[in-house]
Amino acid sequence: MPQFRDAPAGRGYLAIPGPSVMPEAVLNAMHRPAPNIYAGELPEMMLGIVADLKRVARTDGHVAIYIANGHGVWEAALANTIGPGDKVLVPSTGHFGLGWAGMAEALGAEVEAIDFGKSAPMDMARVAEALNADKAHKIKAVLAVHVDTSSSVRNDIPALRAALDDCGHPALLMADCIASLGCDVFEMDAWGVDVMVAGCQKGLMVPPGMGFVFFNDKAAAVRAHMPRVSTYWDWTPRAQPKEFWEYWNGTAPTHHLYGLRAALDMIMAEGMEAVWARHDRLARAIWVACDAWSSDGSLRMNIADPAHRSRAVTALRLEAPDATRLRDWTERNLGLTLGIGLGMVPSDDPAWHGYFRLGHMGHVNGHMIMGLLGGIEAGLIGLDLPHGPGALSAAAAVIGEAGA
Ligand SMILES: *Cc1c(COP(=O)(O)O)cnc(C)c1O
Repeated sequence: MPQFRDAPAGRGYLAIPGPSVMPEAVLNAMHRPAPNIYAGELPEMMLGIVADLKRVARTDGHVAIYIANGHGVWEAALANTIGPGDKVLVPSTGHFGLGWAGMAEALGAEVEAIDFGKSAPMDMARVAEALNADKAHKIKAVLAVHVDTSSSVRNDIPALRAALDDCGHPALLMADCIASLGCDVFEMDAWGVDVMVAGCQKGLMVPPGMGFVFFNDKAAAVRAHMPRVSTYWDWTPRAQPKEFWEYWNGTAPTHHLYGLRAALDMIMAEGMEAVWARHDRLARAIWVACDAWSSDGSLRMNIADPAHRSRAVTALRLEAPDATRLRDWTERNLGLTLGIGLGMVPSDDPAWHGYFRLGHMGHVNGHMIMGLLGGIEAGLIGLDLPHGPGALSAAAAVIGEAGA
């Protein structure tokens, strides 16, 4: 495994919250000569890919696909709906909410931010207050991160929809599902989400390089009234292309499309409900293990209330510098790479070494999660860090539930 310094024997495990573990089926599908982009299999694959992406997002709306990472689709969503001087409301619950707000500001939007900190979900009463105060309906969109990958908080998007509806506010509801799509339950149409952004490299199990903007007719009408949208970011031709190149405004991401086709085949074969149930069970196994460790020593989950936790990622604390020591130990000795803490404190602050995260999105199963938890326990023992007993048997009990 050449990606690891002092690599131990055996298969490595990248347990960071994106990019996620790549299935062999995805990698194998991508390992091929360059295909023709003008005719044949590749253009013919697109209708099925678009249909399956909408099934994953639970929408009958539109999807525009970009050769971009998550930041790219943040910009794409804004470029089609928010012009200079337009106002957006951003209730943030971590690093990524702040990041999307910053991008809107850089594009000339007026940003009203409500910062709920780094370990709590949105307080809908405060969001409703801000919406109610906007009698002139100047707020054109609410930018909401479903799962903030830095804090691992999961926000209640239906409650946000209800807050908008209760005060009759017409703002677009825009959701960042880059971390959550394909992991946590998400229903774009049923939840009344107008615009949703996602990337391919987390729950969708494809190497980074493609991003998606889903939008409904209400959002399309807002786009139609924009004075100017750059040709490259314009979602209209991408969502309704007359020719194959218009999906991309240029050359297609050829190999990524084969990878995405394979990933969508896996998701469709398993079924969305089963994909969600698998992530739920594996996340609960992680939580009970963390609860057991937490009964002694300094390890704590960042989100105390399970009702507000994501099934895609878990943010943890371990007294500095032990989080960094643990990550180094598991990587060097086990080939197990844990995620760094993100956005909790500046990276030059010694406290930075007190945060880490576990990615459990996409191509994960019970034996991988038991390996992840066993690896952490080995690290806690190897570094002589105090921790409570019983974590692994508690996790095994969850994974061993009937039907697992
Ligand atoms: C990963 C992530 C992003 C950023 O995606 P990049 O591909 O790193 O640009 C944004 N929002 C959320 C919730 C994420 O998890």
